[in-house]
Amino acid sequence: MKLLMHICCAPCTVYPLQTLRSDGHDIHGLFYNPNIHPYREYKKRLDTLAHYAGGCGLRVTYEQGYELERFLRNVAFREKDRCRYCYYDRLQRTVYRAKEGRFDGFTTTLLYSKFQNHPMIKDIGESLASEHRIRFYYQDFRVGWFQGKTISKEMGMYRQAYCGCVYSEKDRFYPANGALNVESARSSGAVEDVL
Ligand code: SF4
Repeated sequence: MKLLMHICCAPCTVYPLQTLRSDGHDIHGLFYNPNIHPYREYKKRLDTLAHYAGGCGLRVTYEQGYELERFLRNVAFREKDRCRYCYYDRLQRTVYRAKEGRFDGFTTTLLYSKFQNHPMIKDIGESLASEHRIRFYYQDFRVGWFQGKTISKEMGMYRQAYCGCVYSEKDRFYPANGALNVESARSSGAVEDVL
């Protein structure tokens, strides 16, 4: 099947790509992630993917522009429910591109992360598929979490320490009690497993 795979980052691509290719699917990637902040972090994740994709022969479309302002406007005042919009926006764009490119279906590397709201991603994917009459290729890629993590580490890939948006960066690093500890802030850089 010719599938358009939405890609959030390179480490999350490793296992889904291997699995889908070994099952005989023809995979094309789409990098569309206005939820990654700030811009230098976005660029770092994009560059990591470009390097990885070049090495494994994966064709990727990099969506033009960086719609940070639109993302923030759409989650303002409903920050606690921001992931719903974030998933929907990225998968909706994937559907549009999949229809334009006459793909048989679409999927997403978001289904690999054990830190994402997996049932919500599945629901949104299925709902968009039914609305736009295109197949959502669902698979629970979380089963390959350890395998993908090991390979990405062996490749020396950049592995980010927070999900993407400024809110998730705050959730990850801002002290729960609001008290800023200089020592803990200093030592909080080397965190893994938050993809
Ligand atoms: S926490 Fe992650 S999934 Fe949720 S809105 Fe932020 S970037 Fe998107």
